[in-house]
Amino acid sequence: MARLGHASLVRSPPLAPSLQTAAAGVPRQRPGRDPLPREATAAPVLRDLVLVGGGHAHVEVLRRFGLRPQAGTRLTLIAADPLATYSGMLPGLLAGHYRPEEAQIDLRRLAAFAGARFHRASATGLDLGRRLVLCDGRPPVPFDLLSLDIGSIPDTASLPGADRFALPARPAARLLEAWRGLREAVAARGREGLQSDLVVVGGGAAGIELALALRHRLAAECAQPGALSLTVLVGTGELLPGHGAAARRRALAALDAAAIRLLRQRAVRFSEGWVHTEAGEALPALAAILATHAAAPPWLRETGLALDGNGFVRTDSTLRSVSHPEVFATGDVAAVADRALPKSGVFAVRQGPVLARNLRRSLEGRPLLRYRPQRRALALLSTGPRHAIASYGRLAFSGAWVWRLKDRIDRRWIAMYR
Ligand SMILES: Cc1cc2nc3c(=O)[nH]c(=O)nc-3n(C[C@H](O)[C@H](O)[C@H](O)COP(=O)(O)OP(=O)(O)OC[C@H]3O[C@@H](n4cnc5c(N)ncnc54)[C@H](O)[C@@H]3O)c2cc1C
Repeated sequence: MARLGHASLVRSPPLAPSLQTAAAGVPRQRPGRDPLPREATAAPVLRDLVLVGGGHAHVEVLRRFGLRPQAGTRLTLIAADPLATYSGMLPGLLAGHYRPEEAQIDLRRLAAFAGARFHRASATGLDLGRRLVLCDGRPPVPFDLLSLDIGSIPDTASLPGADRFALPARPAARLLEAWRGLREAVAARGREGLQSDLVVVGGGAAGIELALALRHRLAAECAQPGALSLTVLVGTGELLPGHGAAARRRALAALDAAAIRLLRQRAVRFSEGWVHTEAGEALPALAAILATHAAAPPWLRETGLALDGNGFVRTDSTLRSVSHPEVFATGDVAAVADRALPKSGVFAVRQGPVLARNLRRSLEGRPLLRYRPQRRALALLSTGPRHAIASYGRLAFSGAWVWRLKDRIDRRWIAMYR
């Protein structure tokens, strides 16, 4: 979590008068059956604060606004899925160490706690002139102040066939949906004595954790030893970019122990049942899982928001859009102050408290706080069984105790949102 030491003051112009009065007179609605906090119900709605996406920073905004409601502000959450999967626990969920309810946050309940309306919908665009969020399958949602925490998607632009024949590791909801079918298919083939070939594309932390989690769970469920062949395509760069050599060595040892084949080739094309590599090889694949680097949701390009070269929303160090002061962005979707931050849940988590305070300050016309990203983050990578690697700069440790530490940290974090 960001401590006060990570934030400093930046002058913020108060919201324009039109902004403060735009939604005046709109009666406060009661979300679901859960009672609204008393303070929030007492004041008329003067402003609409709309959160798009149930990402790691937005859950903190909801928690804080639930603990201290903002009078005169109507809060709305628009999220594609009512359950937010905590990225730190996703590999453990896939590996079978957590039940879904242990690793997921019920956004509907959290929104009710915050006195927020919950719209289950995908945002498909923004009309910034009229201050509307355009949604799939529901009328546009008006806002005075908007915050985006919608994550990222795997980069498929240069991978023909990926959209049809590969399974993206992001968003988590889609991966989890496909996961059950994949487990059943592998188990059924195993019963018939058939081998299942799986290919994970991407040698970053996500790809390695995914491969090790899949191996752990599927090997436990497959009756036949050797019924599973798992390959990770790491491309031509190094394994675990951004991590030190010591962490890389430990990850290689874990992959080796799990009999996962590493192939230093780039995937260039997907077809039904096959992954084609740059070297001209065709790898059989019952499933090809894409954990390539993160790309921005394409609809942002039509919004008029200032974006970086990769299509992520450019913000200043207060997490506010550099082009539209009524829009904030955090997590994977944000390109903060032209710093190339890793697309990792740790950063989204740390941005949460600063975002919550800056949204409140923006509504009140007070100076905004600066978000100061940590220079180095401790990464805890799970390796399949209850075992993990800690990677911090050039240092690395591993063992069951690292898993227990990670488990304790992750459980403590997610407990705050229940
Ligand atoms: C396999 C895997 C393992 C990982 N492990 C780790 C790890 O151990 N530690 C770590 O720090 N990071 C990890 N990451 C990275 C991490 O998942 C992301 O960096 C993190 O989830 C980003 O958080 P976020 O808040 O930006 O968005 P997300 O957590 O992705 O949340 C975005 C939310 O917005 C919703 N949404 C998306 N589009 C829309 C839309 N148009 N309208 C409405 N709602 C929308 C989604 O449904 C989702 O709930 C992992 C990633 C993968 C793929």
